[in-house]
Amino acid sequence: MRKIQMVDLGGQYEGIKEQVNSAIATIMETSAFINGPEVRSFQKELEDYLGVKHVIPCANGTDALQIAMMGLGLKPGDEVITADFTFAATVEVIALLQLTPVLVDVDMDSFNINIEAVEKAITPKTKAIVPVHLFGQCANMDAIMQLAEKHNLFVIEDNAQAIGADYTFDDGRKQKAGTIGHVGATSFFPSKNLGAYGDGGAIFTNDDKLAHTLRGIVNHGMYERYHHDVVGVNSRLDSIQAAVLRAKLPKLDGYCDRRRAAARSYNQAFKGQSNIVTPQTVKCEKEICDDCSCHVFHQYTLRITNGKRDGLVKHLAENDIPCGVYYPIPLHLQKAYVDERYDEADFPVTNQLVKEVISLPMHTELDDEQINFITKTVLEFVNG
Ligand SMILES: *Cc1c(COP(=O)(O)O)cnc(C)c1O
Repeated sequence: MRKIQMVDLGGQYEGIKEQVNSAIATIMETSAFINGPEVRSFQKELEDYLGVKHVIPCANGTDALQIAMMGLGLKPGDEVITADFTFAATVEVIALLQLTPVLVDVDMDSFNINIEAVEKAITPKTKAIVPVHLFGQCANMDAIMQLAEKHNLFVIEDNAQAIGADYTFDDGRKQKAGTIGHVGATSFFPSKNLGAYGDGGAIFTNDDKLAHTLRGIVNHGMYERYHHDVVGVNSRLDSIQAAVLRAKLPKLDGYCDRRRAAARSYNQAFKGQSNIVTPQTVKCEKEICDDCSCHVFHQYTLRITNGKRDGLVKHLAENDIPCGVYYPIPLHLQKAYVDERYDEADFPVTNQLVKEVISLPMHTELDDEQINFITKTVLEFVNG
């Protein structure tokens, strides 16, 4: 059996090696390292893939979130509602801009932001909601967009984990994750579903005026060379990363299919287990769809409900199976983000999830032998 990895970037590289190497060689020869033609081509190709008017490439996903918030003109003291159960980057940028993060609980089935909790948290100071499409599945965007409209709020989608996923609205319309709110942000960190070979990120919007503002902010607030109209940042996608992403983008749907196939095999093996809850696709009648892409499985995350999660982490390590606990501490309990306004009783789901979740190896190169070994090892411990 091949060695099991959490993410197998080396195996994936084998399939695109020639394309990537020759594109990188061209960049070395032309020295167009920054803002070269590769970046512009990637931008255009990603706009076409997503069906969004504007893609603004930038240096990483955290910057993408920060620049999106800057572009919307959010001001210190404005309240921004986001999920308690997410990677810290989401809340970090809110705090950095001196906005007030308001963390709310999530749903047990989808791990995504809870709509009643969002509604309850809205005050006259609330200016934006940041749904995080956690683990590769969209938050309830029908309800979020309705709430935003009702209360005149911006919606900033944190799409770092769900690029390529579709969201199906209640009326049957489909749209790509990250293109539904006023603005979306994504990451091309190597282990993300569309990963570069270094850092990268992008911002999406259908709003022409906002796109113009964002293009200036990523480039020191310049709209005309050496005229700085707004305070900006330096956040660029470099040409080498754009070349890697151009080689991978046409394969993204296929990569997502491979992830879904692995998820289906895992689900099959864990079917009927009373101590294991497999990931739920909440907007789809099928357990894991064959013919739609409502979940792109950035992570395959189980809940272990009999108190054996921590033991399982150890047991897997002893068997050379990597795994992850995303996330082990709710953000509202992180030292950097504690706030006396929070009440423990408002976070029952996150507080439970941090004790139960475990993410198994998930990538495009998993084979049946590896999946069988992983599921057998999980089952022998959880039921042992
Ligand atoms: C990875 C990630 C980010 C940050 O992306 P970077 O490119 O690492 O800055 C933000 N939000 C979520 C949910 C992520 O998973």
